[in-house]
Amino acid sequence: MNNEQLLERSLKAVWHPCTQMKSHETLPLVPVSRGEGVWLYDFEGRRYLDAISSWWVNLFGHGNPRINAALRDQLERLEHVMLAGFTHEPVVELSEKLSAHTGNSLGHCFYASDGASATEIALKMSHHYWRNSGRPEKCRYLSLAGSYHGETVGALAVTDVALFRDAYAPLLHQAMTVPSPDARLAEAGESPADCAARCARALEDCLAEHHGRTAAFIVEPLVQCAAGMAMHDPEYLRLARAICDRYEVHLIADEIAVGFGRTGTFFAHQQAAIRPDFLCLSKGISGGYLPLSVVMTSDRVYQAFYAEDLTRGFLHSHSYTGNPLACSAALATLAIFEQDDVIAANRRLAARVTDRAAGLAAHPRVRHFRNRGMIWAFEVDSDDAQFSRKVFAEALSRQLLLRPIGRTIYFMPPYVIGDDEIEHLLQQTLAVIDAVR
Ligand SMILES: *Cc1c(COP(=O)(O)O)cnc(C)c1O
Repeated sequence: MNNEQLLERSLKAVWHPCTQMKSHETLPLVPVSRGEGVWLYDFEGRRYLDAISSWWVNLFGHGNPRINAALRDQLERLEHVMLAGFTHEPVVELSEKLSAHTGNSLGHCFYASDGASATEIALKMSHHYWRNSGRPEKCRYLSLAGSYHGETVGALAVTDVALFRDAYAPLLHQAMTVPSPDARLAEAGESPADCAARCARALEDCLAEHHGRTAAFIVEPLVQCAAGMAMHDPEYLRLARAICDRYEVHLIADEIAVGFGRTGTFFAHQQAAIRPDFLCLSKGISGGYLPLSVVMTSDRVYQAFYAEDLTRGFLHSHSYTGNPLACSAALATLAIFEQDDVIAANRRLAARVTDRAAGLAAHPRVRHFRNRGMIWAFEVDSDDAQFSRKVFAEALSRQLLLRPIGRTIYFMPPYVIGDDEIEHLLQQTLAVIDAVR
């Protein structure tokens, strides 16, 4: 196999995600034959620094020896068994470990295979909880402006991205949005915390009117990633928790992108010292190896389903629920967090990146340079309508994988990025910005 052959066959046989396929007449697909650490390689030895962790999933590099070994070991014993009526060691151990990370406050783990399914589960479980509690009229949902919670029909209803939504609008249930506490939208004289407080008042106004029919408020804690890495003050989450409590509305924390250390703490909501009613996890959960997602919830929610009556149970399933291989990859990922004290190490790593990015932050065309944990983002002044596409292509020509969202360039690198690689990332990004005017 070589690059050319793979591209030709791919365009014939594969319908690629999130893509107008005709655009590949001018923008070639990128063939990848193998990965190692932060690097992706094609068939001719050309390489790209994966600065976006392959759509935010990879944590400890491609081809991580420890995760590879855990998978080989599991493969020798059990590749899969259904989870309805059966159980196995990896899923039990993973559930216990994840629950320990919430101080055992979210001790019940329900598994699926991707992020959108985790959103679906949280939405369904929330409504079903209210129904089991004698309040079946609570069946509506609330999300932030610019929210992204996945693209299946249920999840898309709480996703506020016109590009993904508009064509399917007639299929979607009605959801409401409230203003995003995005700190870039702070008014003159407002601190990020002030902006959070103002937006929380809008949330309160909305729930004061609609709480009787609202099941849950779903939010991406600290960073709305697909909205363009919109960051907000943890104060918003504290206030939102209190408001949801006051109006008896569930708080769903969608940490599919921001969980597993991405924002600097193991879970993002921990920075606000709150407990959500539902916690959705995916992406980094398996270190970027295998599809896996989970919704974690409290004993209180769990108990509302626990009964003699079958129909009070949560009757939702996916064929690959709790797949042992995926759970083993997740356990190996959690072991790396423990063995390498990753949260503390990332704090030092992030400080080095931010320090060395000073030149980039001061670039005359760079706006709103921001960082939270292992996420960096900024907007670039440009009137080029093809900005994101050109940045992507220009970066590839400099051995770098960037995938801007509109005019927002962001870095979300694997946590194993080394000093020389940081230098490559920052220098080449500067060169890309100067090349795309
Ligand atoms: C990626 C993402 C999802 C959807 O996950 P998929 O695995 O792509 O379905 C949901 N919510 C957030 C915040 C995400 O970043």
